[in-house]
Amino acid sequence: MNNLHNPPVFDGHNDLLLNLWLHHDEHPADVFLQGPLKGHLDLPRARLGGFAGGLFAVFVPPADYAAQMKPAAAPHDPLGITRRQIAILHQIEASSAGQARVCRSAREIEQCMQQGVLAMVLHIEGAEALDDELALLDEFYDAGVRSIGPFWNLPNQFGVGISGGFPGSPDSGDGLTAAGKALLRACNRKRVMIDLSHMNEKAFWQTAEISDAPLVATHSNAHALCAQPRNLTDRQLAAIRDSDGLVGVNFGTAFLREDGKRDGNTPITEIVKHLDYLIATLGDDRVAFGSDFDGINVPDELGDVAGLPRLLHALAQAGYSPGLIEKLSWRNWLRVLKRTWGE
Ligand SMILES: [Zn+2]
Repeated sequence: MNNLHNPPVFDGHNDLLLNLWLHHDEHPADVFLQGPLKGHLDLPRARLGGFAGGLFAVFVPPADYAAQMKPAAAPHDPLGITRRQIAILHQIEASSAGQARVCRSAREIEQCMQQGVLAMVLHIEGAEALDDELALLDEFYDAGVRSIGPFWNLPNQFGVGISGGFPGSPDSGDGLTAAGKALLRACNRKRVMIDLSHMNEKAFWQTAEISDAPLVATHSNAHALCAQPRNLTDRQLAAIRDSDGLVGVNFGTAFLREDGKRDGNTPITEIVKHLDYLIATLGDDRVAFGSDFDGINVPDELGDVAGLPRLLHALAQAGYSPGLIEKLSWRNWLRVLKRTWGE
């Protein structure tokens, strides 16, 4: 199966920068550009899979995890980690001889896709590094950051993320703090996308009330099919639909399977089931991919980014039209990014 006739894929979420920061901090750009990297994503495999770009997350891991995985980096320095991971993406661009670019607008993404240049958008997952006065938001924006999830699963100065295991509800108590609400307003002013994927129930509804942008969950699935607390309830999906937002479907088996297990022995059709459900709820224009490559366990049948043609093939087998597959693959992401960022 080749991907000659497949549409390019623009994807809502990956954790490549965490992988590079943890394991390849000496020569991160070279290992990404040349491959093969341990993990789901490097440039040669991206080319094989038709992966045209996506949101690349800067992720500040919890202090104890970082200390264990990267003892040399202690003491814990969220700002230093954030700046370093942003710098890594810029190094990739600088070393790529025009093969990869940090994109700041939908127009730049479209140009990259037309020219076969990997389109990389900077996203911050867990904004611990931002101080309460938001003084650093301008610095990050100037560095290319166009999307922010205020917190990951653990509480920080902006609010409380989702905690609790499977099966569980997204309701984990308190939501946004006053600083979190101020961050959302600042993001609206700068037209930085706000990611709801790690928000607990209360923060989700506060965001729905405060934000004037479409509601976007970059890498979450349907709670009705898999009761992970990180997946979205029907009420949340309806709110995303009503805001004309988007959900990027997560390829992680723990977010797909009815039993919530991390198990590679999970057919690709489990991704199709979530897409079916999300499309039935949100419509054809508000569903896309949010792989979470390098952050989760994917079905063995998919394997890594080079396996994307197998997913697109499964969609065709399930009766999805070429036009719908193109929407899921990239058009819907571009549509919601234009609505959020401006043309
Ligand atoms: Zn995540």
